[in-house]
Amino acid sequence: MISQAIARVLPVVPRPVVRHISSRYIAGPGLEDATTTVRKLNARGKLATVDVLGEEITEVGETDTFAAAYEEVLAEIDRRHLDSNISVKPTALGLMLDFDLCRRHFQQLVHRARVRDNFVRIDMEDATTTDAALELYRQLRDAGFDTVGVVLQASLKRTISDIGDLADLRPNVRICKGIYVESPEIQFREFRTVQQSFVNALEALFDSGCYVGIATHDEWLVAQARRIVAERGLGRGEYEFQMLLGVKPSLGDALVAEGHRLRIYVPFGAQWYEYSLRRLQENPSIAGYIASDTLGRVLNPTRNGLP
Ligand SMILES: Cc1cc2nc3c(=O)[nH]c(=O)nc-3n(C[C@H](O)[C@H](O)[C@H](O)COP(=O)(O)OP(=O)(O)OC[C@H]3O[C@@H](n4cnc5c(N)ncnc54)[C@H](O)[C@@H]3O)c2cc1C
Repeated sequence: MISQAIARVLPVVPRPVVRHISSRYIAGPGLEDATTTVRKLNARGKLATVDVLGEEITEVGETDTFAAAYEEVLAEIDRRHLDSNISVKPTALGLMLDFDLCRRHFQQLVHRARVRDNFVRIDMEDATTTDAALELYRQLRDAGFDTVGVVLQASLKRTISDIGDLADLRPNVRICKGIYVESPEIQFREFRTVQQSFVNALEALFDSGCYVGIATHDEWLVAQARRIVAERGLGRGEYEFQMLLGVKPSLGDALVAEGHRLRIYVPFGAQWYEYSLRRLQENPSIAGYIASDTLGRVLNPTRNGLP
């Protein structure tokens, strides 16, 4: 309830205050902000994946702007010798407006990534887009584009079956809980059930020989993942942990110190304000996390902060 109340009052919170709070989680408005953040992360032994923030698009013409922004990100990563790939929301490239156009944009981006020895992650959005996003991934792979990965959400009841359907591709998969609130018919809601679904999905992905990006800050899940990786005798090149910029950096540091690969999701973009508000309102529990984290840092300023 407190989280929902925070999410509701946010639009009247002064913009500089929102900027201050979100600066921990968003690199900044410009590409230079993103590359500076990635450079600092790399210096600490952390990999990155860069996300260009934006609002929902309503016209196919807007997809060109996003595609061009991502091409610039890839070029800059290459030019600065950064260790980072990119994460792209498929609706930003027109997934739900014109599927073929979206596929062509992704083909171009994945091609640009491949010639630079880089990689494109197709982020997963709300459940109305899941079928189309998985179809997009399959078509890219069928067309010979290999340096591309997909995301599955452990809170969705369909995910175990999706893992089986994708297994022939030996996909590179990011597994996460899923940030979107869906109807109880298609989504597990109980915290422990989602955790168990995450563990089941992780085991199933490793059984299928997938490279897995284990995207969570849930300490119980991180412990389970470490156990599973150790029991299976997996090497560094067979999985990676993934976390969001500014969230639980000390847990990330511990993983890096133990020798695991860790990739940090680095969002940046001029539309940071609209993006922050929309994400907080979509999932009010994040507002609660941020509020308790911000309060914790006020009460204990020595806590680890920005990368
Ligand atoms: C690298 C990465 C990529 C992702 N990509 C996608 C995607 O493509 N599609 C999708 O639906 N979801 C994505 N997510 C979000 C994910 O689905 C979860 O919503 C999010 O990670 C929170 O779940 P958790 O596993 O960390 O567990 P939780 O139980 O939700 O969180 C554990 C703890 O981590 C902290 N925490 C978690 N999230 C935040 C936050 N946003 N801000 C501040 N503190 C936080 C809190 O202290 C919380 O108690 C991604 C997450 C990561 C890390």
